[in-house]
Amino acid sequence: MFLKELKIPIGELRGVGPALTQYLARLGINDCAALLCHYPRDWDDRTRELPLNQWASGRVSTAVKILAKDWIGFGRSRTLKVYVEDQSTKASLICFNRPFLERQLQIGQSWRLFGQFSYKYGEIQSTAFELEAISEDEEEGYKGKILPLYPLTAGLNQTQLRRLMQRALGEYASPLENELPLYIREKMGLLPKSQAIRAIHFPESEEELQSAKRSLIYEELFYLEVMVGRRAMERKGQSQEGAQKAKEQQPGSSQGPPLAVELSPLQEGLLRRLPFSLTSGQEEAVREINRDMEGPFSMARLLQGDVGSGKTLVSFLAALRIVEKGGQGVLMAPTELLARQHAENAAKLLEPLGLRIAFLTGNLKAQGRAELLKALAAGDIDLVAGTHALFSRDIAYRNLRLVVVDEQHRFGVLQRQAIMAKGRYPHLLMMSATPIPRSLALTVFGDLDVSVIKDLPPGRKVIKTHLARESNEGKVYDFVRRILAEGRQAYFVYPLIEGGDEKDLKDAVSMADRLTKEVFPEYPAALLHSRVDDEDKQKIMEAFRRGETSILIATSVVEVGVDVPNATCMVIEHAERFGLAALHQMRGRVGRGDYQSYCFLVYSDNLNEDGKKRLMVMLEHNDGFIIAEEDLRLRGPGQISGLEQSGYLRLGIADIARDSELLLEARNEVFALLARDPELQETEHACMAELIHRAPPFADGGL
Ligand code: ADP
Ligand code: MG
Repeated sequence: MFLKELKIPIGELRGVGPALTQYLARLGINDCAALLCHYPRDWDDRTRELPLNQWASGRVSTAVKILAKDWIGFGRSRTLKVYVEDQSTKASLICFNRPFLERQLQIGQSWRLFGQFSYKYGEIQSTAFELEAISEDEEEGYKGKILPLYPLTAGLNQTQLRRLMQRALGEYASPLENELPLYIREKMGLLPKSQAIRAIHFPESEEELQSAKRSLIYEELFYLEVMVGRRAMERKGQSQEGAQKAKEQQPGSSQGPPLAVELSPLQEGLLRRLPFSLTSGQEEAVREINRDMEGPFSMARLLQGDVGSGKTLVSFLAALRIVEKGGQGVLMAPTELLARQHAENAAKLLEPLGLRIAFLTGNLKAQGRAELLKALAAGDIDLVAGTHALFSRDIAYRNLRLVVVDEQHRFGVLQRQAIMAKGRYPHLLMMSATPIPRSLALTVFGDLDVSVIKDLPPGRKVIKTHLARESNEGKVYDFVRRILAEGRQAYFVYPLIEGGDEKDLKDAVSMADRLTKEVFPEYPAALLHSRVDDEDKQKIMEAFRRGETSILIATSVVEVGVDVPNATCMVIEHAERFGLAALHQMRGRVGRGDYQSYCFLVYSDNLNEDGKKRLMVMLEHNDGFIIAEEDLRLRGPGQISGLEQSGYLRLGIADIARDSELLLEARNEVFALLARDPELQETEHACMAELIHRAPPFADGGL
């Protein structure tokens, strides 16, 4: 029997009555399979006791007595503090977000305690700890064992859940069949499924626990990559013309060296007109795109490159190739501002080559819009730049062959699909300056090909980044004043448009007032945020671009795409409120010209050490990929923009950031397997295929 087939209702397990059934349901446990997959969130290693006074050498694990309780702080930040003592010394527990411990912990009681401690404010302290009731009879049986610590719910305690788990393991674990093929288990040194499941709950040793974790993590990643790999194959199979072409092109030899692809005449034409040459990253990306477009299948490529790396130009080159063959292209951007900038650039660079360029947003007036729609349907427009209005229901294209999605992370999957549906398997080029860490790229975008532009155009100076406390903002302002005096321009960014509930938070509207009246009265300034209407927004940006305003006070709307080389100062206030990836994007608004640029990250005076450490990443790194990796590590994948809604990240035990190496291994194995046996029909894979067919599809179908 496979684990997933263990659909025995939880109520049939001995000792589970109606009350327990209800509690378990709250944890999502309705049957015995789900119970066995309720993995511990941690383990209490009682083979190794570590008393409080030895906190410095590792994780404390000891029995303590509750000495006293106290509250620190006020209002919503009121926090429970508990004083404890074991046979070695005293310590205190800071119970952030755990006010309920007040009722659970009675003075004089004994509890098992484990966690990381440090020496702070003259005492041994922990904020990351676990407590567990000691019941004397149990304590005997558990002595010297490694015990699971489960996520719990009210009404259910560790002891009860452990007892149930042992019962379920006793009944069902040993007959569990292996899901992964033997050759993979042997190669990777993975435990048999029955052992892995038992050992994840009740390991015999630390080593066995590690093996069990690794085995189950690998299995999960393996399934994940099977789905990704299958989708990649489906996408390619989708295009029947492609499949036909593939047969013609590669009779027999399916894996010859890729043909060298020449630049097309229009592509060469554009390059000749540029005052600079492509960076080697751009060149490589263009080559890959050309190869895709000549290949049998529709392109699906993610083009990643740090802010300012020149992705737009690469997409123009892609468009030229399509237009040359009689196709149309769309270039979709998340904001009107950015779409307009693209349309203007396209007009400047591509119209001289004979392309017909248009610009389409939701704000287009009725008459102009009707004409434009007619032209698109007739094929009288070659390339149209615009916002999501590009896929409005009433828009039809004559022969849409290329979809470019700029700042793709700002679009939902459904929007990307809607624009793709306007053509017959058009080539897709997604561009992002929010670098997606490799591990994520391989899962969420795992069925896409990826090009990375690593280099920036020559001559760019590294942006000098500084951290400043809010109380030192005066110095920052003085510095900016000197830069403005040299004729440069500056951005000021705030996390809010207008003051909300939080009194001590600066916002764009009131700071615009203060900056223009008190701080820089001598310089013209403008305010830009999402509530400014589009027409004004454009005027404001235009004025800033022309240098008529020196200071742009904004919210994170400046995050995306806008290019003003003379703006060399970026001041981000309450920098702690932004994700690192967003900070990096905003910093990328400066450093676009020949002048030395500066970025100031101003943080609240009461920012804690961890927050400061996070901002330090911005000082230490200029590489968006490293920053994104760091962001991923610090905040977890769920926080990375645009990915929250994607079902890919709902994993049980694997963590794609932490387990990225294992992910890569699983991926290679899966892709090799699928290439050999796309339907997973070889006998030894049959069981897996069956399981995979039954696995729930991902929430949004991905792209
Ligand atoms: P991003 O990758 O952030 O979208 P852009 O496409 O906006 O970057 O390019 C940033 C700037 O760099 C533009 O002004 C563009 O004209 C310029 N640029 C692009 N490629 C090169 C190059 N090879 N050499 C010099 N400047 C370039
Ligand atoms: Mg761009």
